[in-house]
Amino acid sequence: MAAPKVAVVGAGVIGLSTALCIAETCPSCSVTVLSDQFSPNTTSDVAAGMLIPHTYPGTPIHVQKQWFKETFTYLFAISNSAEASEAGIHLVSGWQVFKTTPKEELPFWSDVVLGFRPMSEAELQKFPQHRFGQAFTTLKCDCPPYLLWLEKRLKATGVQMCTRKVADLWELHSEYNVIVNCTGIGAHQLVGDEKLFPIRGQVLKVHAPWVKNFIRDGDGLTYIYPGIHRVTLGGTREKESWNLSPDPGMTKDIFDRCCSLEPSLRGAQDIEVKVGLRPSRQCVRLQREVLSRGGVKLLVVHNYGHGAGGFSVHRGTAKEAAHLVGECLAALQGSPLRAKL
Ligand code: FAD
Repeated sequence: MAAPKVAVVGAGVIGLSTALCIAETCPSCSVTVLSDQFSPNTTSDVAAGMLIPHTYPGTPIHVQKQWFKETFTYLFAISNSAEASEAGIHLVSGWQVFKTTPKEELPFWSDVVLGFRPMSEAELQKFPQHRFGQAFTTLKCDCPPYLLWLEKRLKATGVQMCTRKVADLWELHSEYNVIVNCTGIGAHQLVGDEKLFPIRGQVLKVHAPWVKNFIRDGDGLTYIYPGIHRVTLGGTREKESWNLSPDPGMTKDIFDRCCSLEPSLRGAQDIEVKVGLRPSRQCVRLQREVLSRGGVKLLVVHNYGHGAGGFSVHRGTAKEAAHLVGECLAALQGSPLRAKL
């Protein structure tokens, strides 16, 4: 068989990392990324990029933990390399604070992040409205630089990038052996997935270089995440809203909530407002599908629906998607034993 041709549709963090895993694990494949938008115009560019998992109710916890662990280990190695600054990956320490003690004092990811511990009484004095807190060190991706770094790695491994809107996966049938669907919220229209819905998020990116620690309210709604150059202030969560226009009332509300956690933010400057639609589902859709039309078959691997936690699990889900692509290629070759992945 000639070099198998794989198309990855979508160029957010999921599409780019999936294409990279496929290229790494199947060097004989010819991989192409097709997308109607690339960085800086994806949802992934809007994200804060913090590695704090969101919980997917429809996915077993041990699977979510494995995805998070693989992602953390991968990015930790980058943060410890000469690439860290270009890739926009850095360690950040801080606090998650609660007004009442949560039922689960130890989240499932507590032994993956570094130095997880309850906050001391002295630390809690910084947050007079909160009674309980957890201190830990995690990783943060500065999203546009990380996406550009992934694109650079892809180009260096020979992956092609094409700007193209795909209206129907079948239009790729004659050109590619396997199609990988990483279209995020775009999958709602592309594959008609009614279980996928947007959760609109508005954030502010501000200049406040004195803020060095992250602060997250335990309800996940208010957060302050310092990046290498800008601090992300959040946020909002509006289910089923497709509106991408910033809302000035929400901007004020986010800013006020963040200032009540960190009063020095009153001096923040150069406030930019960003809106993104989290591609939300009960569980990430990570599976093979064989589409059939008039006796012709189309091999598809889906990897979308990462909701509020795509950065936290992207490498783990990308590895699993690459494995599924390997299974498709093995099926094409007629024997699973000939799989290269
Ligand atoms: P996207 O980034 O939307 O990429 C989808 C790609 O598919 C795009 O390139 C698009 O152009 C392309 N596409 C779609 N349809 C088609 C089509 N028909 N043809 C061709 N191309 C198509 N996660 C975290 O882990 N940590 C955080 O701190 C965090 N903060 C967030 C804050 C906000 C405000 C928001 C909105 C999200 C946040 N997230 C966070 C979640 C994270 O952003 C998402 O889970 C992640 O970006 C999803 O990535 P994706 O690649 O699936 O989607």
